[in-house]
Amino acid sequence: MTDPIALARAISDGVLFPGALEVDSSDIVPVDRLDRLASAGFYGLAGPADAGGMGLADMATALEIIEIIASGCLTTAFVWIQHHGAVRALTDAPQALRDAWVGRLCAGELRAGVAFSGLRRPGPPILTASPDGEGWRFRGFAPWVTGWGRIDVVRVAARRENGDIVWALVDAKAGPTLQAEPLRLAAVNASATVTLSFDQHAVPADRVISIQPFDEWQGQDRASLRVNGSLALGVARRCAFLLESDALTAELDECRRLLDQASPERMPDQRARASELALRAATTLVVLGGGRAIALDHQAQRLAREALFLLVFGQTAAIKAAQLHRLYDESHG
Ligand SMILES: Cc1cc2nc3c(=O)[nH]c(=O)nc-3n(C[C@H](O)[C@H](O)[C@H](O)COP(=O)(O)OP(=O)(O)OC[C@H]3O[C@@H](n4cnc5c(N)ncnc54)[C@H](O)[C@@H]3O)c2cc1C
Repeated sequence: MTDPIALARAISDGVLFPGALEVDSSDIVPVDRLDRLASAGFYGLAGPADAGGMGLADMATALEIIEIIASGCLTTAFVWIQHHGAVRALTDAPQALRDAWVGRLCAGELRAGVAFSGLRRPGPPILTASPDGEGWRFRGFAPWVTGWGRIDVVRVAARRENGDIVWALVDAKAGPTLQAEPLRLAAVNASATVTLSFDQHAVPADRVISIQPFDEWQGQDRASLRVNGSLALGVARRCAFLLESDALTAELDECRRLLDQASPERMPDQRARASELALRAATTLVVLGGGRAIALDHQAQRLAREALFLLVFGQTAAIKAAQLHRLYDESHG
């Protein structure tokens, strides 16, 4: 079996990075990039071996693969990374759901997105679930859903009347009760990110993955913040390579080590460190490149815009506070 890290490097350096500017200027990530990841088995990154997934025994390998793919083309990595939560959730779902979905998701025959960020917003839920016979009706909106037009299903989180979360697999098809409003973005625009609106959208019982107490999810969310840090490490990694900087590479290694070791309480600080490193590394690349670096066919400006984007993507209240502390308080006493 091919070493998955070596395979990720070959795809990242040989396919993704050379085509990253083309993706950056596209309206939607070309499907061949996603097909390439699927044919390498990377849509099964989080899947069990018995369903055709990679069956990785250690998280460190998965994180390194994410970092390497992100260092090739952040847009492609960003669309792809949304998929894995559905694979994990369906692996633990009732057998019929597992059997129906996990194999095809691991193979990349079907691709998934996710819509859960509204759960982090304080105040009344922005997406609710009401019982309707055996199933549910979803009403409200999901502010960010990435991959629209490249995904078949979305793993959606909606809150029921007692506050619990109804996690369901919804077809990624617009219709009278499901509207997708495209967002124009200053970076990763080809990620085809939309705001999804649900107008009493019917969700059959056999699409419900689980019903979870909100407190339990909050604990899991705090414990899962490490993964998105690998996107920032990926941007910094590409910059360190282009700058041929041993100092930056050493800093990147230290940043990764701190992320790997961080407790849930310390994770927001380490996520802020990783985002700041990506920003500084990409800014250095722009400065070094001079005026040319700001042309749309230059990698430096792309990486700098992506580093800016990573300041806000996956930002929780705690990460936001940690970032503001690093970027502002530390230089203003
Ligand atoms: C381009 C892009 C694509 C994305 N794609 C997806 C996707 O496919 N699926 C997905 O689920 N998510 C996606 N996200 C969401 C991403 O994880 C969010 O960036 C993150 O959840 C923060 O959301 P937000 O910046 O909209 O801020 P908000 O939701 O407004 O909140 C930001 C933080 O501040 C806190 N906060 C907000 N208001 C208050 C207040 N009044 N008082 C106290 N604290 C407050 C919130 O708790 C939150 O932690 C995407 C985001 C971006 C930018």
